[in-house]
Amino acid sequence: MCGIVGYIGKNNATNILIEGLKALEYRGYDSSGIAYNLNNEIKIIKSEGKVSNLEKKLEENIPSHIGIGHTRWATHGAPNEVNAHPHRLGITTLVHNGIIENYVELKKELEKEYHFNSETDTEVAAGLIDYLYHQEKDKLKALKKAMEIIKGSYALAIMFDDELDTIYAIRKDSPLILATKNNEQFLASDIAAILKYTNHYYLLEQGEIAKIDKNAITFYNNDLNIITKKEYVYEGTQTDIMKDGYDHFMLKEIHDEISVYQNIIKSYVPNLNIHELEEKFPNFTKYDEITIIGCGSAYHAGMAAKSLFEEYANIPVNVEMASEYRYKKIFPNPKELVILISQSGETADTLEALRKAKNSHMDTLGIINVLSSSIARESDNVIYCLAGCEIAVATTKAYLAQVLILNLITILISYQKKIITEEKANEYLSDLKKLINQTKDILNKEKDYEKIALSIYKQREMFFIGRNIDYALCMEASLKMKEISYIHSEAYPAGELKHGTISLIEDNTIVIGIVTKDDIASKTISNLKETKARGSKIILVTTDKLFKEYINDKFYEEAIIINEINPLLNSLVTMTPLQLLSYYVALHRGESIDKPRNLAKSVTVE
Ligand code: GLU
Repeated sequence: MCGIVGYIGKNNATNILIEGLKALEYRGYDSSGIAYNLNNEIKIIKSEGKVSNLEKKLEENIPSHIGIGHTRWATHGAPNEVNAHPHRLGITTLVHNGIIENYVELKKELEKEYHFNSETDTEVAAGLIDYLYHQEKDKLKALKKAMEIIKGSYALAIMFDDELDTIYAIRKDSPLILATKNNEQFLASDIAAILKYTNHYYLLEQGEIAKIDKNAITFYNNDLNIITKKEYVYEGTQTDIMKDGYDHFMLKEIHDEISVYQNIIKSYVPNLNIHELEEKFPNFTKYDEITIIGCGSAYHAGMAAKSLFEEYANIPVNVEMASEYRYKKIFPNPKELVILISQSGETADTLEALRKAKNSHMDTLGIINVLSSSIARESDNVIYCLAGCEIAVATTKAYLAQVLILNLITILISYQKKIITEEKANEYLSDLKKLINQTKDILNKEKDYEKIALSIYKQREMFFIGRNIDYALCMEASLKMKEISYIHSEAYPAGELKHGTISLIEDNTIVIGIVTKDDIASKTISNLKETKARGSKIILVTTDKLFKEYINDKFYEEAIIINEINPLLNSLVTMTPLQLLSYYVALHRGESIDKPRNLAKSVTVE
């Protein structure tokens, strides 16, 4: 969840650490800290809040050339300065991403030797490694032993007082990459932290140890033998992860949606032909059931896909939240495909759900944005979302990339099961051109959505209602609204409202109704009118076709009307205006849009 960065080289370490931490702040940002070697002594500086607070505490031009840094997203202990990383016990100083699950037992034992200062699980890892090093008198052996003892997830960057020109690193279930360029060595939670210096990197695998000094990075396997590692290249550029002139990453990323769609088309169906999908996607013919697993927006993408798969591909679908799936009884079916959706590919709950499915001998497919991430590597098959780097915590383009991939899978299964002809499949695919044009139109009308936002941004609560796929869209639109504007917002199946929740509707309550599905349009419209009768103010979101067909009185305050494409792709064009609406509501409320409180981008803790 947090960000880790490390540096050894000729340049000023503290500057590079701070820069790296700023690039990683989207991963977690309640406190931060760095440790560096100054004249053969470890100095630790920490601060609550954003990295800029830490930066203010640092003197200029500190002559240090080696250090480790951390931005924290607290899991154990309050987000204060004492609990901030680095943690230090004995001669061992470290930063940690993840959760040490057996820290209570370990702490009890280690308390005989050490006095703990913080409430964190991380400090226990520092104590354990220090203790093991004193026993083993060998760092590699101590780290190997630590990996055997520690339960949970960790990426650890470690410095020892008796070898202050070296950083050691180990990991399990939390990501860590290493890179080397012009006699400078880097380590980081992800490439964003070091992209300014290099786009070549190595991935540290579970059970391996990296030893980094000013000359090289040396990798050891679990038997402590030196190994050579494959080098990866990140193809994106630094501008991918900058705002590109937009005020917020979120707005930039909404505008990126067009290029995301173009990337997906270019990579998977350049000629808009179903045979290209057959070649590039796995074969789905052997499955008679699908389970889709995700968290947050990825779960909502799964909910949207459920409607599509069931209706257009005639296959039953369960959608599960990864955090629930992990601990529930499952009934493995050899003809079941388990689809895991995660933007980062490091979402801890989804990763564990993947492992559970694999242990139950089910086929797994990852729908993942970040290349070579843990879920991407561990799934039997992976389809990349190709959404590029997404920095705003509230996902926009990556969610829509997931939905588009799921749309393509729907068309493919439907074709493979002979529900639709080749001609029909290709007709759906050629509609992808319309998707791009409609999205461009929506983005050109951005200010219209800002106007609607201005009419609602002072509200304390709102409801999103819809049926079937429209309900899945409501869930995502509502999450977007509450994530960044902090307005209490609920998504409800339109027909379910009258069974309890309608008691919350009073004068001026905002109800946003999504109506994009022909067969249930009139039902949802009636439900909207039921709220109107109780004083609500309605924002209607519908297609031009349904508007003409079903709307004959002005029961709504505002309407967002999208141009109908087809029942599959309508879900994508419906979401973009709702993302813009949330963005402008949050903007006019003056909230911290890209880094909403209490949240982090990549949730690598349970
Ligand atoms: N569990 C550790 C803590 O709460 C690390 C959390 C993180 O990954 O930032 O300090």
